[in-house]
Amino acid sequence: MPIQVLADEVASQIAAGEVVERPASVVKELTENALDAGATSIQVTIEDAGKRLIEVADNGSGIPPAEITLAVARHATSKLSQAEELFQIRTLGFRGEALASIASVSDFQISSRRAQDAVGRRLIVQAGRILQNGETGGPSGTVVRVDNLFYNVPARLKFLKSNPTERQQIDGLLSRYALAYPRVRFQVVHDGKTVLQTSGGGDQRAVLAELYGVDLARQLLMVDFAHESSSIHGYISPISLTRSNRREITFFVNGRWVQNVPLTTALLQAYHTYLMVGRYPLAALFLTLPPDEVDVNVHPAKSEVRFRSQDAVFSLVQRAVRRALLSHSPVAGLDLQPSWSQGGHFQSAHGGPRTAGVDWSMAADPLPAIETVPAGSALPEGGRAEFQSSLPVGSMPLLRLLGQIGAAYLVAEGPDGLYLIDQHAAHERVLFEKLANRQAATQSQALLEPVLMRLPPQQMQLMRDGLEALHQIGFDLEEFGQNTLRVRAVPADLAGSDPEWMLRAVVEDFEEDETPLQNQREARIIGRICKRSAVKAGQVLSQQEQRNLLESLEQCTAPRTCPHGRPTMIHLSVGLLERQFGRRGAR
Ligand code: ADP
Ligand code: MG
Repeated sequence: MPIQVLADEVASQIAAGEVVERPASVVKELTENALDAGATSIQVTIEDAGKRLIEVADNGSGIPPAEITLAVARHATSKLSQAEELFQIRTLGFRGEALASIASVSDFQISSRRAQDAVGRRLIVQAGRILQNGETGGPSGTVVRVDNLFYNVPARLKFLKSNPTERQQIDGLLSRYALAYPRVRFQVVHDGKTVLQTSGGGDQRAVLAELYGVDLARQLLMVDFAHESSSIHGYISPISLTRSNRREITFFVNGRWVQNVPLTTALLQAYHTYLMVGRYPLAALFLTLPPDEVDVNVHPAKSEVRFRSQDAVFSLVQRAVRRALLSHSPVAGLDLQPSWSQGGHFQSAHGGPRTAGVDWSMAADPLPAIETVPAGSALPEGGRAEFQSSLPVGSMPLLRLLGQIGAAYLVAEGPDGLYLIDQHAAHERVLFEKLANRQAATQSQALLEPVLMRLPPQQMQLMRDGLEALHQIGFDLEEFGQNTLRVRAVPADLAGSDPEWMLRAVVEDFEEDETPLQNQREARIIGRICKRSAVKAGQVLSQQEQRNLLESLEQCTAPRTCPHGRPTMIHLSVGLLERQFGRRGAR
């Protein structure tokens, strides 16, 4: 075939493919336009998961009558005029192609009236061709109506997922925008039923309650942190509230919902030693950065961003989250409540469980002592909150040691009941904090005889990259001939442990994660070494050792979890004991 310029229609369908992938992408573009227009109320009406109808009505600025045909023209925008402005973007849109793209693959209508105009205008567009351009009345603002999306692109239609999946995409998107813009009133109606309604009152926690239910919203921790000209605010789940996937981790940058792996990584690293493997937090974090620090023009869908200073943003997130977590680390209480697991995304806004998402688990782990309490014994709704609120947050209460049971747990009495302490987890925590807080290499202890360790070349390479971090912790070791390490000293806190054994554990850890970030590496090495070196279950401890362990644990800043996120202690409150013994009826 000879080279030829594509017909306009073909070109715009190709372009549309990048912007409009599915009904949720249409909802996103129209919602963003409404927000850019300064709307304080946005109403979204969906039929048949958006395949039949998507309508977004706003009370924003409206479009001047003379410009309405431009609104649906390709590369026509009121938000940008010069290329330099690309790095000063303060609006969600700027590419001027969303409406044109949507209109080219649907039956499309846009009606708009500015408050100052007596009448507005309405355009009817079919597969990109303007059929009608007339006057219209109606309230001020803009209504875009998209019928029969992709009717003229059958291939695209075939790629759409089932209605529940497409709906979930739409709802997930709108719930996030509702959260990000608490001052905007959102109403979302699916097939005649209101599924999301926010007040626009400006209270983010109220929106969270609307989305996740009051109980859960109440437990979320507030993040509010600023550094230089950047800031971050929002909510994260406490370590006792986790999920099995990352789907409830949301980041907004300058008002835009973004997908950015490093941001998520920063968040997860901040939780790193607190969460079990395979468990994830919930987070809705809103970053405000100087516009020239963010490149939003990465992809037509505008949901990817690049940061000029990736490291600074990374550490902003990490520090903000760490800070929020450290100020609230509750003791793992006995969890007798069923885990939060309701199907579906958010349900009807009126009645029905409000639990959004799936598979919430209130505890990091099924707790070992759960067998000691008959399952199904009545614990009032919210009983868990009672356990937690009865304890001061952030540290652990002073405990009186009673003894050791099963060569695995310490038993202690506290201000409100009984505490069982996992000796291995507790010792891991103690070692972890000692190593993490040590002052440079001062606390090394020389080995009587250096240890030589041979490693396969690929492991040696990994080790080389980790040498610096190991020195920091207090190891004195060096390469000694081909693929051999010579270890001359170990951290004093670990003097009793086999150095080779510890270091092999470290290499294994490196292997699992080829590119650990530098700032994460040290913490991971420490975590791994502590796991290897901590006293094991099955080890009988002397009275003195038990007491030392408890005292050291009390001195930790996060005594309630081991570095891998498991609880170090379980609390059986007096109230719980009373109920279990039938001394007090369930309320
Ligand atoms: P962009 O948002 O990138 O500018 P769009 O194709 O989404 O491109 O919209 C084109 C133009 O139409 C916008 O720049 C804006 O001027 C106008 N417009 C679109 N939707 C609305 C709306 N809901 N309210 C007011 N103006 C709108
Ligand atoms: Mg737009």
